Amino acid sequence: MAEDFDEFERKTEESSEDDKEYESFCFLCRRPESECSGMIVLPNDIHICTDCMQKSFDMMNTQFPDGVFNPSGMINIPNISMLDLSAFNNPAGTPKKVKKKKEAEKKTDAKAPSFDFRRIPSPHRIKAALDEHVIGQDYAKKVMSVAVYNHYKRVASDMEDGVEIEKSNMLMIGPTGCGKTYLVKTLAKLLDVPLAIADATSLTEAGYIGDDIESVVSKLLAAADNDVEKAEHGIIFIDEIDKIAKKKNTNQRDVSGEAVQQGMLKLLEGSEIEVPVGASSKNAMVPMAIVNTSNILFICGGAFPDLDSIIKERLNKQASIGFYADLKDKYDNDPHLLEKVTVEDLRKFGMIPEFLGRLPVVFTMDGLTEDMLVRILKEPKNAILKQYQKLLAMDEVRLAFDDGALYAIAAKAMEKDTGARALRAVLEKYMLDIMYEIPKDDSIGQVVITREYIEGRGGPGIYMRGQEGVLPGSM
Ligand code: ADP
Repeated sequence: MAEDFDEFERKTEESSEDDKEYESFCFLCRRPESECSGMIVLPNDIHICTDCMQKSFDMMNTQFPDGVFNPSGMINIPNISMLDLSAFNNPAGTPKKVKKKKEAEKKTDAKAPSFDFRRIPSPHRIKAALDEHVIGQDYAKKVMSVAVYNHYKRVASDMEDGVEIEKSNMLMIGPTGCGKTYLVKTLAKLLDVPLAIADATSLTEAGYIGDDIESVVSKLLAAADNDVEKAEHGIIFIDEIDKIAKKKNTNQRDVSGEAVQQGMLKLLEGSEIEVPVGASSKNAMVPMAIVNTSNILFICGGAFPDLDSIIKERLNKQASIGFYADLKDKYDNDPHLLEKVTVEDLRKFGMIPEFLGRLPVVFTMDGLTEDMLVRILKEPKNAILKQYQKLLAMDEVRLAFDDGALYAIAAKAMEKDTGARALRAVLEKYMLDIMYEIPKDDSIGQVVITREYIEGRGGPGIYMRGQEGVLPGSM
């Protein structure tokens, strides 16, 4: 009994220690503790700043003149009509907390460095770590490693000598399923910085149906456990950025296209943004936090369909002029066409120049070939085949794939045209029967997935314990 009590006391102490790290907000005026002269704590973790408390008392003391009827019959407390009074009894409705900025940092000049860039690995190390997870895309990995390294150097640098390093926000162009999101996720994990992934299709100009542009910062704050300081060094990945291209032939207001690009300008460049904590829209019940986006790295990605025809048109126009005029169909089957993209092509696609100007690092990613898909199946640290092998190993069964089977799976995935994303779907279909049947029979020691099985011309190779087959070139 005494032990239980000790344990309870210890936990209570721990949680109050944790709480000290977070700022409290005034329930009425929503200002954080650091901006108020003092806070009064009420039951259910409700905080009221002394200013609001004073105002309430003043209001209560207001005397209505003789003969004037106070219609509500109630005391006028400022802002009270905006509050959900049931929240007083509902601990779940109490505002989310925001982590306090460190004391020392509040006092220092905002321009002084606050980030230890020595913990960021050098570009070749970043690329080597990415190589372990992401197959191919060598150029993209190299560009990203350098851009990220420079970005964090910029965060850590001071401006004493008057030289300000510019932000290296990125724009990555590549077909769906080629690893854009995966690359960014791996990078953020490697650098141990918070990451928010947002979809540009859902963004609209403030005031219209859809998510406000600032909601992406709010997502990052959530990913950083409401720690503003941590969020300010994070990464925001905005996918499907091609969907906010300027709409052509429209005479209505373009609230989800050009207006979103306009709205994102100040975010990309760096400004102080007031974001709701723990919600995607601002309202009276949600506390606000100020996040400075100047050290947040923005990476935008998109498939940009039809961009190739814009590039081709430009190249053909250039090539058809002059003495060395080329054939018109020279670029028709060029696999490296996308790499020749210029800012001019992107403008033609519908991106506004100011927006492109804030994404100085532009690079393309390759569409996946059959060979790359085979490598994706077996080589990454967390490869899908390794995952299935681990699952069956728990039943003490060895799972092997012959090379023909891997190419047959890759060929089927290629048909779906969704990049590496199709691999799991294809494989899942064939592995279902294996995962269902094998545990039935304890004597099975090895299963070999063959090309015949994938192409529906035969079954997998099944070997009993003690007579396992060893296939050349199998995995
Ligand atoms: P998108 O380019 O559309 O953002 P994703 O990054 O979401 O594509 O890729 C989908 C999945 O495919 C990833 O989760 C990852 O497992 C796999 N994948 C895609 N490209 C690669 C690659 N180059 N190397 C390893 N895995 C990849």
